Amino acid sequence: MDGVVQRKTDHEPVVETGASGFLTINLAALGRNYDRLSADVSPAHAAAVVKADAYGLGADRVATELYTRGCRHFFVAQFLEAIFLRPLLPADAIIFVLNGLQPGNEKACAHEGIVPVINSLPQWQQWSAVAKQLDRTLPAVLQFDTGMSRLGLPPEDRASLASLMEHENGIEVLFIMSHLASADDPDSIQNQDQRVEMERITAEFPQFPVCFANSGGIFLGKTFHGILARPGIALYGGAPTGTAENPMEPVVNLDVAVVQVRTVPSGTRVGYSGTHVTACQTRLATIAAGYADGLPRSLSGRGAVYCDGVRLPIVGRVSMDSITIDISALPENRLTLGSRVEVLGSNQTLEDLARDAGTISYEILTGLRHRYQRTYR
Ligand SMILES: *Cc1c(COP(=O)(O)O)cnc(C)c1O
Repeated sequence: MDGVVQRKTDHEPVVETGASGFLTINLAALGRNYDRLSADVSPAHAAAVVKADAYGLGADRVATELYTRGCRHFFVAQFLEAIFLRPLLPADAIIFVLNGLQPGNEKACAHEGIVPVINSLPQWQQWSAVAKQLDRTLPAVLQFDTGMSRLGLPPEDRASLASLMEHENGIEVLFIMSHLASADDPDSIQNQDQRVEMERITAEFPQFPVCFANSGGIFLGKTFHGILARPGIALYGGAPTGTAENPMEPVVNLDVAVVQVRTVPSGTRVGYSGTHVTACQTRLATIAAGYADGLPRSLSGRGAVYCDGVRLPIVGRVSMDSITIDISALPENRLTLGSRVEVLGSNQTLEDLARDAGTISYEILTGLRHRYQRTYR
């Protein structure tokens, strides 16, 4: 889609493309966010977490852009995401699979040069066996669980790991890693608990460098940086911490077209189940995106969109393909068929929309799926 039709101005008519939702991804802003995070963690390096299609923004475009900014470490969640990305990046880019080896893909991983994160003793043994069969040394990352109970070797497996390493080897551990559960809250005691646990681990395995911080972790300071940070959301303009001003530059804009405008009298029901009833004569517009486009149904009667800086509240339920908004605050005829309203942009951040929807920026971003026309700038 990129380049087929360039967006000229906000609110331009949409007939020329036929699309009714317009997602703009600012690759320059993404690059500046990367540069900023790299500078923050220097002399450590910044990787890029590009799982879930780079949080929905397009792993191909995002990863190739960040490669040009000097990024050489890319984390995905799943093996197939790594397979997709591998041919798109030069050979000196390393792709890591966070969810680790899955039974049956070990050989493919080795052949494609994809680096698994080893999360358990059996995975270590599997990878070591493949190395032996291929008569090669295979790279890996070792993940330890420091308190999230999600992925990685639990404390009670560390002694066995140390002895396994002595006879089942053939694995080159590039670094060890762990993941923070509460990094978005700088005051959470859990951050220090996990850091202390990580220090215990590095004392037991002093030969390996450390990779620890996600976006929030970067802002917890040097003691969390190790040699490599793993930011995701901050690259894409999301706030790395819930408490401070967001230091990142927005990357995503979303405009949606108006498909119908009407004026209704007082006492009119709006939307499914008639959950909203107008209290006075009201001008309404229906816009062409709904929960199938990643605008959660929980925005029903809570969220808003914007036009000319004016807040236009969502009235009634969010439908699958449309949302009705109250446009009474705008001059008459300001919005007509094909006009655009802002869903994400200078008036409404990802965090604003996520808060109204009762979720987090991550879920909003990864939900912005295929029905929008995408433009990369
Ligand atoms: C998703 C993920 C990240 C990135 O987290 P952000 O909060 O988006 O920066 C880093 N590390 C691991 C293990 C992850 O699963």
